[in-house]
Amino acid sequence: MSALKRPHLACFAGLALAACLAWAAASPADPALNPLIAGPNAIAITSNYMRDVLFFLSSDTLAGRMTPSTGLDTAALYLASNLAQLGLEGGGDAPGTGDPKLGPLAPFLLHFALARSQISSARLSLDGRSFNLGTDFTITGVDADRHASGQLAFPSGETAALMDGNDVLALIHGGAQPRPPRSGYHVERFLPLAGSVPPQVYAGAGLWEALRKAQPGAVIDLTVSASTQHAQAEDVIAILPGSDPVLRHQYLVISAHLDHLGVGKPVDGDAIYNGADDDGSGSTALLALARAYATGPPPRRSIAFIWHAGEEEGLWGSEYFTRFPTIALPGIITDLNMDMVGRSKPAGDTNAADARLTSADEIYVIGPEVSSSDLEHTMDAVNAGDYRLQLNHYYDRTDDPEQIFYRSDHFNYAAQGIPIIFFFDGVHRDYHRPGDEPQKIDYHKMQEVARTVYAIGWRLANQAAVPKINAALPAPLVKAMTWARQQHTADAARFHPPPPRFH
Ligand SMILES: [Zn+2]
Repeated sequence: MSALKRPHLACFAGLALAACLAWAAASPADPALNPLIAGPNAIAITSNYMRDVLFFLSSDTLAGRMTPSTGLDTAALYLASNLAQLGLEGGGDAPGTGDPKLGPLAPFLLHFALARSQISSARLSLDGRSFNLGTDFTITGVDADRHASGQLAFPSGETAALMDGNDVLALIHGGAQPRPPRSGYHVERFLPLAGSVPPQVYAGAGLWEALRKAQPGAVIDLTVSASTQHAQAEDVIAILPGSDPVLRHQYLVISAHLDHLGVGKPVDGDAIYNGADDDGSGSTALLALARAYATGPPPRRSIAFIWHAGEEEGLWGSEYFTRFPTIALPGIITDLNMDMVGRSKPAGDTNAADARLTSADEIYVIGPEVSSSDLEHTMDAVNAGDYRLQLNHYYDRTDDPEQIFYRSDHFNYAAQGIPIIFFFDGVHRDYHRPGDEPQKIDYHKMQEVARTVYAIGWRLANQAAVPKINAALPAPLVKAMTWARQQHTADAARFHPPPPRFH
């Protein structure tokens, strides 16, 4: 725990009298906490509270919270119910557009539609020789029954095409097959317009060799029987309006992801991937933060607490939110993202899988050195003042081989030019395994990390200046920002989305 203990006197020299009064009432419980540094209600964030929440979120009953699943929906409703009880505002689906049966919980959920095509049968013939689905090829991009017949062509070395005159009826790829999301679902709005992209056939070695040996112009016949299934998943969004009539139009986002991997391949007889650390820990810490902010004095700027879904499938929820935002993106000053903040390396641990796991008073911080020196200064000033966690910048770059910068939801905020900090404890022996369970969490560490995020958030939401993005950014981030801008233009033309409701 922190060492710095400043006298009460600091209160009267400082900026936030209300904060000091709240502290004066609360300080006997934890005299180490200085509200000017830690924020006025940091003591509301406790390891005991988080233990109670995380044992629910990572229980077998929620079956690993896969996107989409009943377990994930249940976790989302649990959060929505808690957030409503805290008196926070919903920041999700527009009023009247959510599920009316969810009553006061509906406004906290931001739904996004999912679709998957189910191919029941497919047959491909090349000059009369038949090839079978599964053993010889796989196919994507077909959502209904289809028949195509035409000639073989080779637009490139790795790609063959089924052509009818100048029309491409299907593309046939050799080499590696794409790995579909576990559930087979995709976010509907991220898919290309129906008919704009031809079906994609992925040929196994046998079919590819036969195609290579065939003459261009050989006849290919493709028959597919398919149907489409629909589902949905949801981000959970709660808003605490700021107290300042001007600054309340700016938002601090604090995020985590609620989903995990669901039920999968058993390890030691256990098939449920509970995801206690990944990212039950961040989701739990985020609820503790929302509770501390909601039951203490509000900061001057507004705060949006966002639990994303579909992170494990490809950062879906954060991509959806940043492409179809309910909060105007230019008003978002920073995203503080917590993904895995509950594990620590035990003393004497020599397990190679834990080699990069952080210790009990240490956490990786990723983002400030990539893109915002301003944010780094604020983070360091707050951390130096109170908890004094070891802030490890090992992954704070875009060129690390593990690509950690790209691997959680903060990335989609960074691509919008928003300064970010990603708090991460490091990969460990139970990462993406059924053994990621709540009894293995270091709840004291979670408390310290969550209180540090609370304190950094308190500073960001109150201080005069807003962190700026550095003038010089790494090329991969600039590329991602360009893509994100193009996507907004394309989305606006295609979906005519309503403007964000929160400004
Ligand atoms: Zn995660």
